[in-house]
Amino acid sequence: MGISRRNFLKGGGFAAGAVALTGTPAKAGVDIPALRTKGLQTSTTVCPYCAVGCGMIVHTKNGKVVNIEGDPEHPINQGSLCSKGSALFQVANNERRLTKVQYRAPKSGKWEEKSWDWAMKRIAQLMKETRDRNFVKQEKINGEMYTVNRNDGMAMIGAAALDNEECYLLGKFARAMGVGYLEHQARI
Ligand code: SF4
Repeated sequence: MGISRRNFLKGGGFAAGAVALTGTPAKAGVDIPALRTKGLQTSTTVCPYCAVGCGMIVHTKNGKVVNIEGDPEHPINQGSLCSKGSALFQVANNERRLTKVQYRAPKSGKWEEKSWDWAMKRIAQLMKETRDRNFVKQEKINGEMYTVNRNDGMAMIGAAALDNEECYLLGKFARAMGVGYLEHQARI
């Protein structure tokens, strides 16, 4: 006859109670190793890779990530991670990871280091120029003029790691820019 999980736990509770009464627990065969995450700062996060959105626990020491593992209390993954999520630690700690903006000017053969402020301004400026250059206010359809307010020079794509709220914001932003070519990676 098989033993159910409930009965197994009941049996465990009985054994623990017996130990508490007699005060003579059986001698363990091995030492219990100290938790390698003991004393570390713990925070929860969500895997950035895909829209499954697995929950993770990140352990840090002096501001540096020292361990990442699945969050057993997260309702989506309940502690498990796929191979990609399990390797996330290597993204956080990787000497080959770029942490500064690299810019290569048109027709230039070399990369220059730039600040994030510079990059944000440059992106905003190019987006504005592209929108102004390609904006279609009205269009003739079946002989009638219609207001379309469309930006034909730009497309936007959402990544699989975006959650509902981020997709909503991206959609709003795209439409404010007049972008009609709006897609999501999951549909491609
Ligand atoms: S751990 Fe794997 S399945 Fe989960 S969100 Fe990350 S990439 Fe997706």
